[in-house]
Amino acid sequence: MSVSLVPEQFFLRDESATARLGTLLAEALLAEDAQVKAHGFTLALSGDLGAGKTTLVRACLRRLGVTGPVKSPTFALLELYVVSSLNFYHFDFYRFGNAEEFVDSGFRELFGPRAICAIEWPERAAGQLPTPDLEVTLSIEAEGRQVALLARSELGAVCLQHVQNAWAEEHEANSDGA
Ligand code: ADP
Ligand code: MG
Repeated sequence: MSVSLVPEQFFLRDESATARLGTLLAEALLAEDAQVKAHGFTLALSGDLGAGKTTLVRACLRRLGVTGPVKSPTFALLELYVVSSLNFYHFDFYRFGNAEEFVDSGFRELFGPRAICAIEWPERAAGQLPTPDLEVTLSIEAEGRQVALLARSELGAVCLQHVQNAWAEEHEANSDGA
């Protein structure tokens, strides 16, 4: 499968739609469990404060079986969840002044097999982060959010295809356009 350079776009009309996208992303990761464990998976989440990055990651973690609190890592920089023999690292680099802080943090060595890394504010570590498998960009639009999804690896493209298929199926079956 080739990796498309054209992002897939959806409109997320409310918080539940953002959460649904997070759930579908978790289901894609579960469907590709063996590949995700072998290679790891990196998800970059861009968008302004309040765009829905944490909302999406929280729903993803819920679907992966995390029942306890899912806090925004804005102050801690990193929250770790252990899900089905994987480490799920939820990063937020908002507080980084520059990409050197990522280098100095030692976080780079956490990326790799058996690690899912979801990163809010990846641009604060630009040039130092490994290429993400999937880039999610959320923008505030009217009462909802526009989301653009771009795969940057074969595994990212496979996962994005799962999400697209599930989203299309749900939204075609639903004539109110939700
Ligand atoms: P971020 O991590 O990007 O700063 P959060 O997920 O913490 O953003 O907060 C997003 C806010 O926007 C929450 O109040 C949430 O209820 C709301 N929200 C999330 N998705 C949508 C949506 N699709 N439409 C409207 N509001 C949304
Ligand atoms: Mg956040």
